[in-house]
Amino acid sequence: MNSILRALGNGKILISDGAWGTFLHKLGLEIGECPEIWNITHRNEVLGIAKSYIDAGADMILTNSFGAHPVRLEHYGFQDRAFEINEAAAAISREAAGNDHFVLGSIGPSGAIVMMGEVPEEKVFDGFRVQVEALQKGGADAVCIETMSEIAEACMAIKAAKEYTDLEVVCTFTYNKTVHGYYRTMMGVSPEEMVAAVKDAGADIIGANCGIGFDQMIEVIQAIRAADKTTPVLIHANAGMPVIQDGKTVFPETPEIIRPKIKELIKAGANIVGGCCGTTPEHIRVNVNEVRG
Ligand SMILES: [Zn+2]
Repeated sequence: MNSILRALGNGKILISDGAWGTFLHKLGLEIGECPEIWNITHRNEVLGIAKSYIDAGADMILTNSFGAHPVRLEHYGFQDRAFEINEAAAAISREAAGNDHFVLGSIGPSGAIVMMGEVPEEKVFDGFRVQVEALQKGGADAVCIETMSEIAEACMAIKAAKEYTDLEVVCTFTYNKTVHGYYRTMMGVSPEEMVAAVKDAGADIIGANCGIGFDQMIEVIQAIRAADKTTPVLIHANAGMPVIQDGKTVFPETPEIIRPKIKELIKAGANIVGGCCGTTPEHIRVNVNEVRG
């Protein structure tokens, strides 16, 4: 298994991939359709996304398994196929990545707020266990627990990965700026609280994803770095806040707009730089040129 921590060890900056969800919609995924069943029904399209990020020069790619927690799959009646769907997701990305690039199994929120007890805790934990075991079986090197806003849920996913796999664990939260000018998740978690909790649960790499855009992400990294100087930080920033233009969703931060911001992200303390919603292989190519060029 490839080790991201080892690759970062010599101070190297690594490039991650860009969006999957917005890419799937471009390829014909309908609103309300389950994106992850495409690993079975549209394998070639999903493989094409994975390959496009490898071709763009990314050192690592994620998997099409963001919403493949069984509780979330229940929405589509696919809960009993969670293992199959997650394993296929990792196998597709592994096929694109070969053995010289990293595969990070994407794990998003279960869709249940753990603190509210909407779904029994064991059910949420068992769902993460299914995901991490299937992602490992499919060939992932690590899991990327992402778009988290609640500490209890993120720590459950981290513990499932640590207890039931040998995978390295990345955990990123999604922040927005409050009217008071500091950053909090939807559940009110600060970057400082996140750092303490996820490291305690066993995360190897921490960070932030999604959110408002590249400029705000620089400030989020600064807040994370104020709390922790040494743990590697991964950043997947959105290409700005989406706007509707002629009935289409458009992300305003083009590859040229983000170009000057890549070095700022790294200066602020990011070790792995990639994109979230609205970023494309072109954005990743810009990342690669800025970091290596
Ligand atoms: Zn996003």
